[in-house]
Amino acid sequence: MTELLANYLGGQWHTGTGAGTPLHDPVVGNALVRVDATGLDLAAGFAYARERGGAALRAMTYQQRGALLAQAVQVLNSHRDVYYAIATANSGTVKNDSAVDIDGGIFTLGTYAKMGEALGPRHFLTDGELARLGKDPLFQSQHVQVPTRGLALLINAFNFPSWGLWEKAAPALLSGVPVIVKPATTTAWLTQRMVKDVVDAGIFPPGALSVICGSSAGLMDALEPFDVVSFTGSADTAALIRSHRAVVHHSVRTNVEADSLNSALLLPGEDAQSAAFDLLVKEVAREMTVKSGQKCTAIRRVLVPQALYHDAAQAIAARLAKTTVGNPRNETVRMGALVNREQFNSVKAGLATLKTQTEVLHDGSHHALVDADPAVACCVGPTLLGVREPDGASRVHDTEVFGPVATLMPYRDRAHALELIRRGQGSLVASVYGSDAQAMGTTALELADSHGRVHCISPDVAALHTGHGNVMPQSLHGGPGRAGGGEELGGLRALGLYHRRAAIQASTTVLQPLRGE
Ligand code: NAP
Repeated sequence: MTELLANYLGGQWHTGTGAGTPLHDPVVGNALVRVDATGLDLAAGFAYARERGGAALRAMTYQQRGALLAQAVQVLNSHRDVYYAIATANSGTVKNDSAVDIDGGIFTLGTYAKMGEALGPRHFLTDGELARLGKDPLFQSQHVQVPTRGLALLINAFNFPSWGLWEKAAPALLSGVPVIVKPATTTAWLTQRMVKDVVDAGIFPPGALSVICGSSAGLMDALEPFDVVSFTGSADTAALIRSHRAVVHHSVRTNVEADSLNSALLLPGEDAQSAAFDLLVKEVAREMTVKSGQKCTAIRRVLVPQALYHDAAQAIAARLAKTTVGNPRNETVRMGALVNREQFNSVKAGLATLKTQTEVLHDGSHHALVDADPAVACCVGPTLLGVREPDGASRVHDTEVFGPVATLMPYRDRAHALELIRRGQGSLVASVYGSDAQAMGTTALELADSHGRVHCISPDVAALHTGHGNVMPQSLHGGPGRAGGGEELGGLRALGLYHRRAAIQASTTVLQPLRGE
């Protein structure tokens, strides 16, 4: 029998009383560990987090909480080798792809630690200026932001067991709000291990950081009016959460990051020899293959001027052909596996759907697997599809295949390109490639209403840019419409989810000290 991972709730470790769900290695197929949350007293555990964890965190300043985040960074850094081993085994990722998750998560935590230091010895935030409410300036209004007295339930997707944890937990803890993280079952091991290392180090006060692995049953039922739920995952689960009684009747604040059909756009006026063309090709191939395309921000739709359709197809295909696929333990392998058999089948089914309206420009099934048995390993080669008449191909604008798959499409003019991109009904990110700074700026603004982030790549930033799919803690992550309508990160903006805003109307003799004047 494999190890049954313990849950941490109510300031104690509990192993579930059920048989447990096994987690597997998606390349060799063996069972690794089990998770189970049966028998946990959720009501008592949630109350402990709110009352003990919340009170202790709120008693500290932003600066003190930032210092705790910095200590957690140190602890996590000292166990990185273990995290890499878990990621290879449980997520089937090559080292560089594991780094996106593991080091990306630790970097994000470190960024919020520094923000805490910069916020200083304060217990609340002021929001905007004093506002006069009448003729006499003595009675005015000041908005403040104070930490909510509830807890933050963080429900994560399988593809980022580390980054997904810390990008949510860092702003919550810095805000003074205790967190309970529920990782996706498939890859819960890494999340559980990171939380365990931080808990064992005794950094945060009891009740501040808890983890529940296994079934999500009952989690939403345990929420109360001042709690927050921050969810990343599929649109279907998001709909269940949004319609839950806790949200509908108790106004539990909800943030949703769902799926997205992100685009890459080569602006008009570039040719196949241009630097911008090269930058697009490179980024598309990279985005398709990093983490086997299992990134919510990955490029799914590639738009180029009509005259460049064939050139782009050839150039992207040539790069994809060099991608070695298979066992991430083999150093020649560049792209590992999908996370499990269910995702493998889902990618195959999604590809079949897209193929009804597209042509295959590079066929992933021609990639022989390195060091992996095709009957067992959940590996798929990268596939580039193409559609010459994208207006009539509805599937490419509404079907997210969560794997190494993208579709190339030609556009007539800039207006047509923008119209096609908007058919994604709201995405996390679009990237724009070109050398005309003015056209780039105008296009970015036109995409801003339907995207959380617009990533503009001109040749002058070729060696500087952070990547289409990389989520930086300083910039917003989230998107309107089908992307879930959520907002995360964006520097201090992330703290807003975990604070309550209130207007204090009073004499300026009361308000000025609050403003530190
Ligand atoms: P999922 O099946 O929706 O699961 C997401 C999380 O919700 C898991 O922890 C899951 O737990 C939990 N869950 C399932 N049913 C629930 C319920 N009734 N109440 C509360 N929680 C529940 O999504 P996934 O398959 O893990 O992730 C893939 C999807 O996530 C893709 O569509 C991708 O686009 C999206 N994604 C979006 C972002 C973003 O930032 N926008 C990032 C990554 C992924 P169990 O695992 O135990 O079922």
